[in-house]
Amino acid sequence: MKGIIFVLDGMGDRPVKELGDKTPLESAKTPNLDKIVEENITGIMDTIRPGVRPGSDTAHLTLLGYDPYEVYTGRGPFEAAGVNVDVKPGDIAFRCNFSTADDNFIVTDRRAGRILNGTDKLAETINQMKIDDNVQIIFKESDAHRAVLVLRGNGLSDQITDADPKEEGHKPKAVKPLDDSEEAKYTADVVNQFVQKSYEMLKDHPVNLERIENGEPPANVVIPRGVGAVPSVKPFEEKYGLKGICVAETGLIKGIAKIAGMDTVDIPGATGGINTNLDNVKEYIMNAVNDENYDFMLVNVDGADEAGHDGDYIGKRDFLEKVDKLIFSELKDRDDIVLFVTADHSTPVSVKNHSGDPVPVIMKAPYVRVDDITEYGERAAAKGGLCRIRGSDVMYMIRDALNVIPKFGA
Ligand code: ZN
Ligand code: ZN
Repeated sequence: MKGIIFVLDGMGDRPVKELGDKTPLESAKTPNLDKIVEENITGIMDTIRPGVRPGSDTAHLTLLGYDPYEVYTGRGPFEAAGVNVDVKPGDIAFRCNFSTADDNFIVTDRRAGRILNGTDKLAETINQMKIDDNVQIIFKESDAHRAVLVLRGNGLSDQITDADPKEEGHKPKAVKPLDDSEEAKYTADVVNQFVQKSYEMLKDHPVNLERIENGEPPANVVIPRGVGAVPSVKPFEEKYGLKGICVAETGLIKGIAKIAGMDTVDIPGATGGINTNLDNVKEYIMNAVNDENYDFMLVNVDGADEAGHDGDYIGKRDFLEKVDKLIFSELKDRDDIVLFVTADHSTPVSVKNHSGDPVPVIMKAPYVRVDDITEYGERAAAKGGLCRIRGSDVMYMIRDALNVIPKFGA
């Protein structure tokens, strides 16, 4: 038997007038998920606690049984791990943008024209940067204009502000310490030097000279944000005795799995949007389901969240229908899995961001106490037999259903 947490990112929603006061999930035709519901048990879940609006990162940490208030320091460490930087506890990590600055150091394009090519060469140059002997600079390009920065050394702190001016027409913000420590003061100074030096090193870089010649905005400055200290996390396998793999589209979720010591895969054509290559996503999911080396897998399919952020209720509904048809058709009759289907949080199309609304869950397992619910939806699931649970309950429930959890007491 294999345990699976299957996250449909941002699936939960609120009633939408244009959908006849149904949510996108309620209005979607999902015959395969409905069959799983009919034969199993449902409920709703507050991923962190009622009313808390989770980020995808804190939500996934919670689902895996980690306390986000303990291990979550910021997004940077997970993004860095997600692009295969071998981060170590204590490293200070950031997510970054390649941006365009003019001769006065004013940011004119935060995304450098969404640059697609040449960022690996720019990253090579940035990795030559020396600030002082105490701190090592590790820099890596990610998708498009995105990148990550890791500072490694003694006397560093993550208690500093962001350099991101958030909008065009401003200089990168001067990074400031958030407390009185020498470490915070020093790290803020390092990051300010980093931003300045990135501009000096990149402004006449061959990649940028070519971009200018082609009328494209040069990627001539690197702006870090989302700082966090890499946490020390007990590996998933050590914690549960289960060998885990993560099949996810985005670097953020892969990074969480990596920091938890799980294996990950890179899915070609996976964009994390509703236009993702779902055939490939399905192939990687099914390969992992069938791989006997693993006792547990975490799946994240991201499109519903993106559609939620875009306020696109049709796109969200249609995407959920596609996932049902393509992927849950394969999983619905498997009797060798304990499958927990959920969202990490709601992303209502009316809010265009995450909300604290609880999410609908299904637990498929042998001999489960089947309830009366027959279709998958937020309000139907609220009447299900699991009632209302929290994200931190999920790994207990899965291990119990797998019969691998030790007894508590005599
Ligand atoms: Zn999410
Ligand atoms: Zn989101």
